[in-house]
Amino acid sequence: MSAPALLQRCNNIVVNDYNTLSADHGAVTKQHGTPDTSHPGGSTPPTRRPRGPHRHHAKRAPSPPITDAQRMRASLARLPRWTQPSWTWLTGLALPLEEPLMRWTPLGRTIMTLCVLVVAVAAAGTAATAGGAWWLAYPPAALIVVGRLRWLYIVGGHFATHGTFVKVRNALAGDIATSLTFTQPFATYEREHARFHHSKRLGTAQDPDSKFIAGLGFLPGTALRVLRRRLLFTVLSPAFHWQMLWSRLKANLTAGKAARRLAPFVLLTLFSTVAVRLDLLTGFAFGWLLPLTFGYNISALLQFMSEHRWFRLRQAGESPRTHNAKLTFGRFLGDALPQEGGPSGAIWLVRLLFLHLPARVAVLVGDLPQHDLHHLRPKGDWANAAFTRRDLIEKLGDKWPRGQDDEIHGSLFRMLDEVLSGLSEREPLRPEEREELHRPPR
Ligand SMILES: [Zn+2]
Repeated sequence: MSAPALLQRCNNIVVNDYNTLSADHGAVTKQHGTPDTSHPGGSTPPTRRPRGPHRHHAKRAPSPPITDAQRMRASLARLPRWTQPSWTWLTGLALPLEEPLMRWTPLGRTIMTLCVLVVAVAAAGTAATAGGAWWLAYPPAALIVVGRLRWLYIVGGHFATHGTFVKVRNALAGDIATSLTFTQPFATYEREHARFHHSKRLGTAQDPDSKFIAGLGFLPGTALRVLRRRLLFTVLSPAFHWQMLWSRLKANLTAGKAARRLAPFVLLTLFSTVAVRLDLLTGFAFGWLLPLTFGYNISALLQFMSEHRWFRLRQAGESPRTHNAKLTFGRFLGDALPQEGGPSGAIWLVRLLFLHLPARVAVLVGDLPQHDLHHLRPKGDWANAAFTRRDLIEKLGDKWPRGQDDEIHGSLFRMLDEVLSGLSEREPLRPEEREELHRPPR
């Protein structure tokens, strides 16, 4: 198929046969002479992925049905080829035959995160200090700081608990990441994560995360409009921020070894002293402290409230495995590309710049869009999650426990609504669940 014909097909966003589109896209890519970077030397096509018509005859598992999220991603294939890695990053969905620009290692991701963090802190601090029109640069820079700090905990610290953050000394790496971000130490994070998050307790009243959500007033059987309003108020509520800051402080004062308990306070004192000595206190407050406290709290809440279908009950005839899979869904930011020339193009651009991009930068960081993959393969290649997930779907075919409702795409608000709607539609908590909420985690 020629490139214009492919683009026309994407343009219509009626992808009846996603796999055919996939093969055609691959063929177009080769026609345009994309260097093959999938193996050393690079001139021989990879044997792992048959190209063009041969692909149709390749022996593989039956494919699951194409989802709306994949249609959305396919529509973006109309945009220039050199922009495709950016769309893959933003949406969290790789095109079927897309090859990554490079394969990331966990260490590479970590070094990149630390470099971006340093530059963003400097930029946010400078913008806040310079004043005037420079303030316009503050929000994007501060969002990047928030996102990188969250990354250190929710990606770095998290995968340290799975032993895959770094090759060796994951406990030490996890403690450094959680000390920098003033969050739960590695030891308690690891214990709670294995015991509750990756177990049949996930999302039940036994799960400390569910207890936390219930404590904020997000209870099953509550009207959707009430839950939405509650989320908005919680984001702005001083009580919520105080609760979060206190729990982060307490976790650092009471858990872990003495050295770990000291580390976050030593780091904070060190950073503050340097800021005072260099007369950069305002920049430090806006570039580091504000994102670390209020920004971090808001990002964590929005991530948390869209992460799982909390309190979901197992449906009649549903296996425990399916129920467990349904607790998590993929979160893919982005809208389908509209037809050229229409007024909706401006809306698409505004939503991209002011909704999806900030959400990806500051909330759904790292592999969070593919959190469903993580629950299926907790030790999978998280550093290249969009490609890992795509390849696993291809490998498992219809054995991948996935349906239309397992891939939510659009804005972060839609993903939050998915969870809030589930809470709203569920029956109120049963007496035994209420009792369990008040018990300490066990
Ligand atoms: Zn995990």
